[in-house]
Amino acid sequence: MDTIRAQNNVYLSTGTVLMSNLNKPMLEIVADTCGRHDTLGGACATESNTVRYALEKKCMHACRDSWMLAIAEHEEYGLSKRDITHNINFFMNVPISHEGGLTFEDGISAPGKYVELEAKMDVIVLISNCPQLTTPVTDTIPHP
Ligand SMILES: [Zn+2]
Repeated sequence: MDTIRAQNNVYLSTGTVLMSNLNKPMLEIVADTCGRHDTLGGACATESNTVRYALEKKCMHACRDSWMLAIAEHEEYGLSKRDITHNINFFMNVPISHEGGLTFEDGISAPGKYVELEAKMDVIVLISNCPQLTTPVTDTIPHP
């Protein structure tokens, strides 16, 4: 949230500085061949997959579960569920509609596109390579 406030923009790209919740620069996007990354759509979770799609989707992949597993497997970092904060959906196109809603649009990303980040402090990055099995943007088929 501090990143959005500091740059006065919900979209991230080259030059964006990702801010900590203590308003300290953590990472800077120094290269970006995609140009659009979502800060508002959130990460998938068993609960959101159930609400958005269907009760039978509850047991499918969920990014929140991947992160919970990662912190459970790395006690050396001393992280808990409270440390998992707002996420960035790199390569995800979630434009804001004129009515103020969010839409999940077809990706503007493609194989070979990348984002390069420069750390401004020691950071721990949790990455979930989400297959997006149920969103229309993937036609429910994960792509390379
Ligand atoms: Zn996900």
